[in-house]
Amino acid sequence: MTQNPLFDVVVVGAGLAGAATAAVLGRQGLRVALVDPRPVSAPAFKAEKIEPDQADLLRELGLMEEVRRRAAAISVIHEAYRGPFAFDALTCYPDTTRDRIDYVSLFAIPGRMWVNLLAYLEATDPWARALRKEPRLAMAHAFPWLPRLLGDYRVTSKIENRVIDLYVADAQSHDGVVMIGDAMQSVCPSTGTGLSKVLTDVLLLCEKYVPTWLRFPDLSAPRIAQFYRDPRKQACDWNSLEAAQYRRQLATDRSPLGWLRRRKTYAEMTLRGRCARLLGYVMAVPIALDKTM
Ligand SMILES: Cc1cc2nc3c(=O)[nH]c(=O)nc-3n(C[C@H](O)[C@H](O)[C@H](O)COP(=O)(O)OP(=O)(O)OC[C@H]3O[C@@H](n4cnc5c(N)ncnc54)[C@H](O)[C@@H]3O)c2cc1C
Repeated sequence: MTQNPLFDVVVVGAGLAGAATAAVLGRQGLRVALVDPRPVSAPAFKAEKIEPDQADLLRELGLMEEVRRRAAAISVIHEAYRGPFAFDALTCYPDTTRDRIDYVSLFAIPGRMWVNLLAYLEATDPWARALRKEPRLAMAHAFPWLPRLLGDYRVTSKIENRVIDLYVADAQSHDGVVMIGDAMQSVCPSTGTGLSKVLTDVLLLCEKYVPTWLRFPDLSAPRIAQFYRDPRKQACDWNSLEAAQYRRQLATDRSPLGWLRRRKTYAEMTLRGRCARLLGYVMAVPIALDKTM
């Protein structure tokens, strides 16, 4: 497969998927080119926490130590009663489906609090417009008890809104080209499954498929199709899509069944938290990045 005399593999896109792939293949001794139009990744507050299964994948890939240098364990969440901003992280769910909001997450970053709000709205929706114009009023309308938790606060930056579409690319393979990560299938950020999906792709590709493919003189589409059909990859991709649909339904379904589903989900979450506390059970802690990346 080394028709190009300079590189064994060319990775296009230096996001999480591309950078991790290049790092892992480079450590295997392959000659890798990593191509991206941007010399430096723009700051983006996404995937700010790493779930335990994602930490396992990073360990398997040998990337965990690198990530840990920039990360800290989240020890306490949902501790909002000590006073304004006396918490590092807080996630709030709205009482109703009226505003089609899934949840709002607040995170301490140096000097201020960052807020991610996930909702199923068109950019032209009146509430989304109100949020851009009068964020405090709009937030108080959607979360009437939030001002009490936050105390007096100021909005110090412009509200950025971003529309995320769910898609699955047509994976009919081309010779020599493999798609992974969000390029192959996008992720609903509410689900927190993006890293699981990306890192599963990277792990399978780098540890299982590329070493086999390199034994052949070319990389044909049928061989690439084996990667797309890998049961572990398919399960992970499916889980991410299913989670996206579930979260959307939870935030938008106004039927009595939807109401029941919301109550059941939140009751389970509360019960799990309370049981864990009562039993003194230490749950595997997610880690959070302490710098924007
Ligand atoms: C707001 C938000 C919050 C999220 N929160 C979480 C979370 O909490 N947990 C979680 O697991 N996941 C989360 N996700 C999802 C997760 O961030 C993504 O799944 C993951 O970052 C995708 O990585 P990627 O490398 O596939 O794509 P990207 O990170 O988008 O990288 C793509 C790269 O390709 C480059 N590129 C684009 N076009 C070209 C081109 N023509 N040629 C060369 N390079 C090109 C871009 O410059 C970029 O560097 C979140 C996503 C968002 C948007």
